[in-house]
Amino acid sequence: MTEKQWTISAILAWTKQYFEGKGLDTPRLDAEVLLCHVLGKDRVYLYMNFEQPLQPEELASFRESVKQRVMRIPVAYITGIKEFMCLSFAVSPAVLIPRPDTEVLVETSLARLKPKADPIILDIGTGSGAIIISLLKRMPEAKGIAVDISEEALTVAAQNAAKHEVSDRLTLEQSNLFASLTGRTFDAIISNPPYIDAKDMETLAPEIRHEPRVALAGGNDGQDFYRRIVAAAVEYLAPAGFVALEVGEGQARQVAALADDASGLKMVDIVKDYGGIERVVVLERRQPC
Ligand code: GLN
Repeated sequence: MTEKQWTISAILAWTKQYFEGKGLDTPRLDAEVLLCHVLGKDRVYLYMNFEQPLQPEELASFRESVKQRVMRIPVAYITGIKEFMCLSFAVSPAVLIPRPDTEVLVETSLARLKPKADPIILDIGTGSGAIIISLLKRMPEAKGIAVDISEEALTVAAQNAAKHEVSDRLTLEQSNLFASLTGRTFDAIISNPPYIDAKDMETLAPEIRHEPRVALAGGNDGQDFYRRIVAAAVEYLAPAGFVALEVGEGQARQVAALADDASGLKMVDIVKDYGGIERVVVLERRQPC
């Protein structure tokens, strides 16, 4: 970039081309989102003000974000923000960036919870808190407990709970799965645990390598956390409660099969995501015969 007078239009065109040359998947979109962030404006503003020149400090800050992006740092870590369920969440490299696929987990849980006036919901491995906070926003009478093994993640979740004004209904606790929850029961146990298998962990996209390993790696076959959650869940489940788990592509049937006699659970539903992939497995208590 030379010191010529850069307008919004010119800088977007230049950056798109630069990103394209670096092999980024969505070069124009990335350029726009980063510029919006620097200017503190939305994308409509960019289009309405194409000929607006950038101030030197705006240009400097945009250049910095372009540099980070070509290092394959995800856009959401650069801006510190990701939209999920129409809410804006703070994110940092301590947490997984919420994915659109995970909205299916939230929608499925919401649909099942609706009849209950004031459920208590457990979110295991909460990360940014996107799942539990979206649920609490939609269910004003609900209460949540969210656990994570990472203190740093819990700090981000607390920030998001405050931002969305649910701190009074959400307890955040550091816990390795159910470890800190002995003796408590929940109307819904929800989780998007780490589920990438060891082989796929070796070939992650460059952006995903910037995300926390602890939020991604699910052991050899990607199912370590499902085994642990399904084996223990019945102890923490209210009598009419349910467990809803996000799963990776091709994992739904195996996860459903974990809900056998010994677990005290049975599979009651498998829900597909917008791409037609089986994404959420729902389990309930087996009724004693
Ligand atoms: N959905 C994420 C991905 O594909 C993985 C998240 C997880 O392991 N829970 O990158």
